[in-house]
Amino acid sequence: MRILLVEDDKLLAQGLVTALERLHYRVEHCVSGKQALQAAENSLFDVMILDLGLPDGLSLPVIRKIRSTNQSLPILVLTAWDHLDTKVDVLDAGADDYVLKPCDVREIEARLRVILRRHQQRKQDLLISNELILDLQRHECSFQSQSVHLTTREFLLLKELMLHPGKILSKQHMEEVNSGWNGDNEGNSLEVHIHNIRKKTAGYVIKTVRGFGYMLKSHDEN
Ligand code: CA
Repeated sequence: MRILLVEDDKLLAQGLVTALERLHYRVEHCVSGKQALQAAENSLFDVMILDLGLPDGLSLPVIRKIRSTNQSLPILVLTAWDHLDTKVDVLDAGADDYVLKPCDVREIEARLRVILRRHQQRKQDLLISNELILDLQRHECSFQSQSVHLTTREFLLLKELMLHPGKILSKQHMEEVNSGWNGDNEGNSLEVHIHNIRKKTAGYVIKTVRGFGYMLKSHDEN
């Protein structure tokens, strides 16, 4: 799952990136409303975390613009202003929720899960596909009722596929989930992670769509 974090406070942003990545999210960071709109246009994200006070002052127009072009991107706003008017403006512009600063990453993560549950019309933090279950709250995986230990990257990649059942996710998108915009070189390549997930579950769980990317095995296939 990819998060676009728009926050000009570098220290706060870095803390959030580190903490959220530890919780199996891939986070891309930018610092202005203008960059946020460009990023949302050029790349696929599952949720945007948007600071309300940006240097170019564009947060509310950013929300409105995104709502006018990409209805479905969930937006969680971070704000330091605890005023009723601000909260109403944020929600009226089309944001899904807001968190007051200073904020704890656990609260942000809980709000993200709620937003995504609502968005995907799920009642629980469980992603289920055939015999595979991912528990997004506990960060646990099971296959055929057996617990499977996945590394952070493996969990992140499998979660991405399970969040988009029946869809082919391009290799480029999966590379971005694995390594981020800056192509961080830590850890294994995408192919190695996919190989390891298959080894820990079953070879048929993830399909390679030659020339395009990867997809989760759907219910009607064997
Ligand atoms: Ca700010």
